[in-house]
Amino acid sequence: NNNNKTILVTGCAGFIGSNFVPYFLDKYKNYNLVNLDLLTYAGNLENLKECETNPNYKFIKGDICNRELVEFIFNEYDISGVIHFAAESHVDNSIKNPGVFVQTNVNGTFTLIDVAYKYWMSKPFSYKDKYKNSRFHHISTDEVYGTLSEDPNDLFTEKTPYAPNSPYSASKASSDMIIRAYNETYGLNTVITNCSNNYGPKQHDEKLIPTIIRNALKQNPIPIYGDGKNIRDWLYVLDHCKGIDLVYHNGKTGDTYNIGGRNERTNLQIVDRICEILDKEVPKPNFSYKSLVTFVEDRAGHDRRYAIDASKLENELGWKADENFDSGIIKTIEWYLNKYGINK
Ligand code: NAD
Repeated sequence: NNNNKTILVTGCAGFIGSNFVPYFLDKYKNYNLVNLDLLTYAGNLENLKECETNPNYKFIKGDICNRELVEFIFNEYDISGVIHFAAESHVDNSIKNPGVFVQTNVNGTFTLIDVAYKYWMSKPFSYKDKYKNSRFHHISTDEVYGTLSEDPNDLFTEKTPYAPNSPYSASKASSDMIIRAYNETYGLNTVITNCSNNYGPKQHDEKLIPTIIRNALKQNPIPIYGDGKNIRDWLYVLDHCKGIDLVYHNGKTGDTYNIGGRNERTNLQIVDRICEILDKEVPKPNFSYKSLVTFVEDRAGHDRRYAIDASKLENELGWKADENFDSGIIKTIEWYLNKYGINK
């Protein structure tokens, strides 16, 4: 649609972006979305099938590190906003192969924001109007803050110092710093969201919850790292998308917002709950899915606990998670049963 503003969304053939795009297109008819995705092993266009015929949606296959391509997209589509999801996202891969994390997450983010800055600066905006006419929203993780003690009052806030421990979180922390600098130095209209662990439909097989469900359904061993007591703060992916929507539209320029649903669970609690649900939904005689749990050697440098204090987003922008862990995980399991063609 020619009268619409056009937002460049990156990495939306992946898990979170492919939940975000249909939600956003459905809610706002006054935006066009251009999705730039390299379709690495983590990207899958099947995830966006429902959007293919939407006239406000366009897919471009390419690398966010490709400056000429990114410049072409800004000029061709007169991009006025960016919502930047594209990243290498799997901690285990970053331990084996950190180089591509620095390339995509650091250099790719730099390329995008530098092109955005130069493009928007070339426009005849007054300094004040620039904030109204353009916005760069960077999607990041709570892992940049490092690890927490097991004291339940110990929570990540927007003021927690950065202390990333894995090559993945270090690359995301670096990209957050680049965004910050473009706001501080050049006055670019930026926002950052740091979210806790997501789960839901369309997540890549490599991640914890899809791994649990897939192995359980095949009755294969379910691998759990170390003692299974590492704690993550789980958020249903659509609640993350709704938080992004609020911050993109109403977040304060230059600010960071933490997103998390106050749903701390150990990995063992996660696997137990999923197995309980499967025991009910897909029962096998004289068998509990829990018997498949197998402890494996811990991940190197495995952070013990992450938990988010989302008060800023709740109080300033009125965000609240719609799903608790139980309602979200039931929806997620339903989606995977459907994917694997399993009738209850
Ligand atoms: P994902 O791995 O499922 O998807 C990443 C997407 O980016 C894929 O489609 C991939 O093809 C694309 N991509 C990778 N390198 C690219 C490049 N060089 N150029 C263009 N596209 C490229 O990741 P996700 O789980 O959807 O995460 C999206 C964002 O959210 C990431 O920035 C991640 O750091 C952040 N995040 C994720 C979580 C989580 O729990 N999954 C939590 C907080 C923040």
